Amino acid sequence: MTAAALEPVRLADYRVPAFLIDTVHLDIRLERTQTRIVSTLTLRRNPHSAGQGALKLDGDGLVFVEAWLDGVSLPSDAYSVSPHGFSLHQPPAEPFTLAIETRLDPSANTQLMGLYRSNSAYCTQCEAEGFRRITYFLDRPDVLSVYTTRIEASFQEAPVLLANGNRTEHGSLADGRHYAVWHDPFPKPSYLFAMVAGDLAMVADSFTTRSGREVRLEIYVEHGKEDRCAYAMDALKRSMRWDEQAFGREYDLDIFMIVAVSDFNMGAMENKGLNIFNDKYVLALPQTATDSDFAAVEAIIAHEYFHNWTGNRITCRDWFQLCLKEGLTVFRDQEFSSDQRSRPVKRINDVKLLRSQQFSEDGGPLAHPVRPEIYNEINNFYTATVYEKGAEVVRMLKTLIGDEAFAAGMDLYFQRHDGEAVTIEDFLTCFAEASRRDLGQFMLWYRQSGTPEIRAEGQWDEEAGTYHLSLKQILPPTPGQPNKQPMLFPIRLGLVGEDGDLPVTLDGKPFDGLVALAESERNYVFGNVRQAPVPSLLRGFSAPVKLTVALDEEALLTLLKADSDPFNRWQASQSYALKLLLRLVKDPTTPVDPRFIAAVRGLLAGGAVDPAFTALSLALPSETDIAREIGNDVDPQAVYQARSILRRTLARDLQADLLRTIENMTMAGPYSPQAADAGRRSLRNGALDLICAGGTPQALDAAAAQFDKADNMTDEMAALATLALSATPAGERALHNFRERYDNDPLVIDKWMGVQAMLPLEATLDRVKELMHDPAFSLHNPNRVRALIGTFCSANQTQFNRADGEGYRFVADIILAIDPKNPQLAARLLVAFKTWRSLEQGRRTLAAATLRDIARRPGLSRDVADIAQRSLA
Ligand SMILES: [Zn+2]
Repeated sequence: MTAAALEPVRLADYRVPAFLIDTVHLDIRLERTQTRIVSTLTLRRNPHSAGQGALKLDGDGLVFVEAWLDGVSLPSDAYSVSPHGFSLHQPPAEPFTLAIETRLDPSANTQLMGLYRSNSAYCTQCEAEGFRRITYFLDRPDVLSVYTTRIEASFQEAPVLLANGNRTEHGSLADGRHYAVWHDPFPKPSYLFAMVAGDLAMVADSFTTRSGREVRLEIYVEHGKEDRCAYAMDALKRSMRWDEQAFGREYDLDIFMIVAVSDFNMGAMENKGLNIFNDKYVLALPQTATDSDFAAVEAIIAHEYFHNWTGNRITCRDWFQLCLKEGLTVFRDQEFSSDQRSRPVKRINDVKLLRSQQFSEDGGPLAHPVRPEIYNEINNFYTATVYEKGAEVVRMLKTLIGDEAFAAGMDLYFQRHDGEAVTIEDFLTCFAEASRRDLGQFMLWYRQSGTPEIRAEGQWDEEAGTYHLSLKQILPPTPGQPNKQPMLFPIRLGLVGEDGDLPVTLDGKPFDGLVALAESERNYVFGNVRQAPVPSLLRGFSAPVKLTVALDEEALLTLLKADSDPFNRWQASQSYALKLLLRLVKDPTTPVDPRFIAAVRGLLAGGAVDPAFTALSLALPSETDIAREIGNDVDPQAVYQARSILRRTLARDLQADLLRTIENMTMAGPYSPQAADAGRRSLRNGALDLICAGGTPQALDAAAAQFDKADNMTDEMAALATLALSATPAGERALHNFRERYDNDPLVIDKWMGVQAMLPLEATLDRVKELMHDPAFSLHNPNRVRALIGTFCSANQTQFNRADGEGYRFVADIILAIDPKNPQLAARLLVAFKTWRSLEQGRRTLAAATLRDIARRPGLSRDVADIAQRSLA
């Protein structure tokens, strides 16, 4: 498809389907290149549709064989068919059965959408529009059907045959073949269909629901990887228990299965009863996975499991409502992880991710509302805005209406819409009723794109004992939305004195810590303010906004010491560092404020209280954080340099403190992925990384010793990254040894690739090109591509944005090479250009030229054409 052929889909054009499909019977006979599918559908006209005439089914690249209407072979003038659709000219008025036979070649499916071959299995991915690559169908989420799936395959090739629901039948056939029949009693949209067949190992367990039903749990992996599933299984059981306790949701089938595959475009997929995972998010052992890997496994297992209610039992009416399932389910998995680990640490990490991924998206050409109203290619809307900002919106809703009304609203939502395909409006109505509040203005969070700015100004009146706070909202223009309406913001805040929060009043009553800003600007007068306060605004990051408030260094130090809100204590450390970094970007010779160094020393001294939190406070704002703060004409090299100077200064001035921290945080005994231990490791490794920034031989020796002695991947990777960054022979030696050590472990080699792709060195581009020839690398495997190329373009600000434009040209060539085979993967890489407009002129010109060059190419996929065109618009 050429770029000009993009045809937008609009929310305003939504019509209910003209037909409904009550049942689907799929008969799948698997062969590597010639898989035969007979799909038998029972159809009827939708009583809610005025639509007349032909039945039009979606298809994508299908080979049609034959069709039958109510058991009778259809004459060829009764229908028209192409790889992209099937149309029955005169469907009966009464309910009828339509059977269609198609052929497909799973081994040639490199898009990894529909039915394809992964390393050791046939598997499927149907969200968003992959089911139409398996059979002709009304491939839209508001058509809910009961599925029965019969799979037949060679026993030797695929002893394991899985599909959604419960297994009702299985047996042997002639010629070494066998079959299994699966029935899913819960009506579901086609995007939740799944099937897996292959020679896989299985680990089993069980879970008893709170009503006493026994559920069999099975995790399928490649042979030899059974020992890497224990953590995923444990996380699954904890997720199931948590959803019962926190949301009253119980699992509903007799069996819950997870399959880990090595070729997968996404993280994981919540198919009913049969989740399919990127193996990266299932397999975890202390020797192969880092603490962050363990946390990600836990979060993603939970996320996909939670979809069983928020996504599967209640699904989306159309793809514009994607945030209905994703934003809500991310919120649920964030709450789960917060309950399992440290809540403040989880919150800070989530906000860091939001700011780095979503804020940069929201501030660039790809900005779109949480619920978009138009798209060219839905695959391009699995974004940080839909997921992460979508979760923030649910969080704000809870903050605004309170825990009790939120819980009542969720209950109402589950009760009212179970088995339905619904909209954001349906969702919000439940909370409006539960809280008896008008949520009309709140709805703007779903409709208006861009990151709002809140400007705060305050003044203390010593004599009156009052504090005047003015809050003003600024909504910057974004693509397609030049003017915006004022939005509703929950702002948690407090006034902090030398010894902590001041017991202030608002409107004569004790202040409860929350204001709801609905106007463009509003003034609040707090009473009982007996000492000069520092405002602690946006506590817990209560709204996804950019906060602008003039706090000087003394004020930030007060918050750092005395704020009762952990998020804002962390924020104070970051704001302080950011002030210094911005000065250093302008003038690298600016001396570093000694009060900041003293504050970091203080943090380290108290580090044992909450090591994970201290580690987060010790980490300086990232290069993208600094770039975002600068806003435009960003020179990534100057940003990098400023950050290096501050790191070197801290390393030099805090050497003894950092060494003491490393020593204090060292643990004896076996590794445990538990949050407490992970926190100690993160502080120790943060201190190690910082001290090595000073480049002293002692520091590098300490890193080398840790690399040699480490008994877990967290410590080993941390030392490797630090050594590699030093660009010394010791670094090269460690890289070499690591490669040898993990030769047969693709997921670990991915980390090794990533570490090198991130190096902020002139030679990195050549190194990345060379690594593409490593036998472990493949342009066909999404995990390998993301580890090397994805890391280079999204996590290496200086080298992707090289002043000579070579970084852009390299990535563009890769994107064009991948696009014909896997458009989704290619489009995701192209998103790395999302902040190109904020760069200084030289790089901006080069990036624009590269984007234009991509956009001009004939034969681009819709995925890539869409991102290229929107990036340039
Ligand atoms: Zn999801």
